[in-house]
Amino acid sequence: MPEILTDEQCIKTRNVKENSWDCDISVCKSLCCHNCAVLTIDEVSELISNARKKYDLELDQKRYFRPAKGEHGTYFAIKMIKGRCIFLNKEDRCRIYECRPILCKLYPVIGVDSIDERCPMAKRLSKEKIAVLKKKYLEEVDRGIQVEKTFMFI
Ligand code: SF4
Ligand code: SF4
Repeated sequence: MPEILTDEQCIKTRNVKENSWDCDISVCKSLCCHNCAVLTIDEVSELISNARKKYDLELDQKRYFRPAKGEHGTYFAIKMIKGRCIFLNKEDRCRIYECRPILCKLYPVIGVDSIDERCPMAKRLSKEKIAVLKKKYLEEVDRGIQVEKTFMFI
């Protein structure tokens, strides 16, 4: 099975149901992919299953995810290589875009009531769209992850 996706498969177009917009990664260099997204074990299983169906990719859990313990449970962080998500390719595009975690879909929203101001979309999106993303963060991001302050890799 292929390890690396072709560039055509690595589209960096945001599409969060009611919201759809294009990111200009020549400006931001996919800044949002320089953080490590944290997932529940069920989300990891779903991502692996979706990557198999969508891209014919067989992702080894241990190779791509690192267990991370918080005060409220144990989660799995996508591994980083030199400060970049392991799924980011040389052209700053996501190799599993259609299967990316919810935290990636909601950027620049990074908390129930916080956004990453460095993301160009933080200024381009209307207040209404940001509010929709924050609502989704509240509803769709695991409650344990929402309340964690820090994670310890184990
Ligand atoms: S999974 Fe994809 S969208 Fe999410 S941080 Fe990694 S490269 Fe970026
Ligand atoms: S969400 Fe922001 S940081 Fe991420 S690719 Fe789009 S504009 Fe760049």
